[in-house]
Amino acid sequence: MLDQLKNDTLIICTKQYKDQILKNINKLINIKIITMDEFIKSYYFDYDEKSIIYLINKYNINYEIALEYLNNLIYVEDKVYNNEKLDFLVNIKKELINNNLLIFDTKFKKDIKNKDIIIYEYSLNKFEKYLLKDLEYKVININKNNYIPKVYEFDTIEEEVEFVARNISYLINNGVDVNNIKLTNLSDDYINIVNKIFNFYNLKIDKFHKISIISTVIGNKFYINLDKGIKEAIESISCYDTTDIYNKIINICNKYVWCNSIEDLKKLIEHDLKNTYIKDDKYTDMIEVVDYKSYNFNDEEVFMLGFNQSIIPKFIKDEDYITDDIKPIYMDTTIEKNKKERIDVINSIKNIKNLIITYKLKTSFSVYYPSSIIDDLNLKVIKGNIDYTKSYSKISDYITLTNCLDELIKFGTIDDKLKLLNSNYNIPYNTYSHEFTGLSKEKLNNIIKNQNSFNLSYTSMDNYNRCAFRFYVEKILGLKSTIDSFGITLGNIYHYILEKIVKEDIDIEQTVYEYIDKENLSLTNSNKFFIKRVIENLKYLVKVLKHQESFSKLKKCDTEKFIKIPLKDNISFVGFIDKVVYDTINDITIASIIDYKTYVKKPSLKYIDSGIGLQLPVYMYLSSYAYKNIHFAGFYLQNITLDNKSNEEKEKSLRLIGFTNTDKEILEKFDYNYMDSSVIDGIKVNKDGSFSSNSLKQMLNENEIKEIIEITKHKIDDTLNNILDSKFEINPKFDKENIGCDFCKYRDLCFKKEYDYVNIKSEVSSF
Ligand code: SF4
Repeated sequence: MLDQLKNDTLIICTKQYKDQILKNINKLINIKIITMDEFIKSYYFDYDEKSIIYLINKYNINYEIALEYLNNLIYVEDKVYNNEKLDFLVNIKKELINNNLLIFDTKFKKDIKNKDIIIYEYSLNKFEKYLLKDLEYKVININKNNYIPKVYEFDTIEEEVEFVARNISYLINNGVDVNNIKLTNLSDDYINIVNKIFNFYNLKIDKFHKISIISTVIGNKFYINLDKGIKEAIESISCYDTTDIYNKIINICNKYVWCNSIEDLKKLIEHDLKNTYIKDDKYTDMIEVVDYKSYNFNDEEVFMLGFNQSIIPKFIKDEDYITDDIKPIYMDTTIEKNKKERIDVINSIKNIKNLIITYKLKTSFSVYYPSSIIDDLNLKVIKGNIDYTKSYSKISDYITLTNCLDELIKFGTIDDKLKLLNSNYNIPYNTYSHEFTGLSKEKLNNIIKNQNSFNLSYTSMDNYNRCAFRFYVEKILGLKSTIDSFGITLGNIYHYILEKIVKEDIDIEQTVYEYIDKENLSLTNSNKFFIKRVIENLKYLVKVLKHQESFSKLKKCDTEKFIKIPLKDNISFVGFIDKVVYDTINDITIASIIDYKTYVKKPSLKYIDSGIGLQLPVYMYLSSYAYKNIHFAGFYLQNITLDNKSNEEKEKSLRLIGFTNTDKEILEKFDYNYMDSSVIDGIKVNKDGSFSSNSLKQMLNENEIKEIIEITKHKIDDTLNNILDSKFEINPKFDKENIGCDFCKYRDLCFKKEYDYVNIKSEVSSF
């Protein structure tokens, strides 16, 4: 077709064909190639972010709904439909036109009058034909083959993927270029299993799942800081300025220089952060995952997996904004869409020369049926069988043999392949050693370098000192276990309100719901009920906190204070402190540190020498770095949950629990009523003005506080040195009971034994 192209031709095709035509065209010729979507936007109208933000603000809707309205405007004409939804769209369209918020490309409309229009390898739907009704165009579909694929049925998804991996290995062993092998129709349920099994065969596949910027550490940090302003948000991620994510964020910000409202900016940027993805590195020598409908296949070896009913052809439901019952005659109904989908799938399959189709009958969660297209095309199904006489992956064979031995031992079942595999391999069955086998310093350095930022914090240091392997799993291997997300949501709501309340007077209920909206949180009915209780708790909590503040002469307050102390080799010690109440008097800063907790255990320094439980000392160490000439009136935990308590109990439970300075001059700055304190828990003064012996158990003098900070600093250095020495043994700490494994999420994978426990002593020493 390319040789016969004339000047002044407009080609409408898919993006893949557009790229291919541009690559293969070898003469200078005046043609334009665009996708159908680009054509509709140029010939009719387009919109931009200004149109979106107008609708969001005018109709008090979210970004996605505004987008849905805009995308549906193309379906309505300037007339009365006598239908609420359609007439609403007509009105919006008029309103946007009147406000110059729709973009009309008059030049394009004029230009194409003199052009030949070709629809190339593209299957038009009814509505697209309607849009093109005033134009003359030619449809060219060269690919009209009738190739017949081979179809294989497997009992399980694992067998299906294993079969494909073996076939690909066979092709590669026989000289087929890996770049000439394609996978297609891979749904989300295949991601993990394909990744796992292909790894056994050393097969690398092009990424087929995308990671949005907002879910990265940098993106999330930027987004959280947007509340403070765009400059501040960019500043908060400036340490990542050499990364691709940082550049993408800057590009997003540059798009909105026209926008003056921070509220509008947040809505627009949030959407872009969610829909911009981290760099999808295109490596060579990887098996590419392609879309069978738009990819232009030639001689590639193609594997189409998951050929199951309802998955292929995809079943389209009547869920559009304009539903079938109100659709104008020129729009495609759901039945028509499903019919077209089926025809498109069949045509695509017939045009793939070297195609192997596979499907499964079950996964661990569901039963599946073969796609009805098998009957439509009268395809012969072969019962899939893996030939174990040929081996392409020892690891895979070992695992298969292990599964066969498990079946034999547990159920007495002898699998056909057991004899063959057992006579060829001698595996250490049931002789597992759980011990950590070591990690070279070189590998460790590479892992640390490849992480966007490798910092130590109180939590990671505590984890390391409780059990080095626990730290290794989380920070070095990067494994994260799933956690109760509603619990985290509640914690975030408390922190959000307590941070805001320090800066301004807010309506607590309204601010909680604003937070829920901002974070796009979807709540179950029981969550909603719980949120109401949280709001009541927060109202009471804020009242008491304000009362407590009235006893303090320290009038400054930093919340969610981020402090970073460089340690070595680009590694820093970092921490967020919930609240630092302070003031500077005669060049001396007097401060109290408060950490909010939803569950409070009396803080203790008894494991200070083992580097365990040092949250508050760590915060003092960080504050000593961030604030000049600092002296601590105290460092405390504060319980912020108040469920089912009487008012008197609530008031008591909100008192600060921790350590207080014995220096009365310093203490009275934080709580001038300390002799009868309703702020600090357990401080009592004898008649002679001295502190009671019980109070002294939770009090420290200036020297002791300094010593604690000094020890903490050494513990941080020791911990970092041990980490950099690659010391990651399974060594949970034990002192009459197992304290190392407290709240550890990795119990299922360490297989610890009693001999792994390391006894430590609680060191009360001078404290
Ligand atoms: S469960 Fe205990 S021994 Fe196992 S990793 Fe966790 S802390 Fe270490």
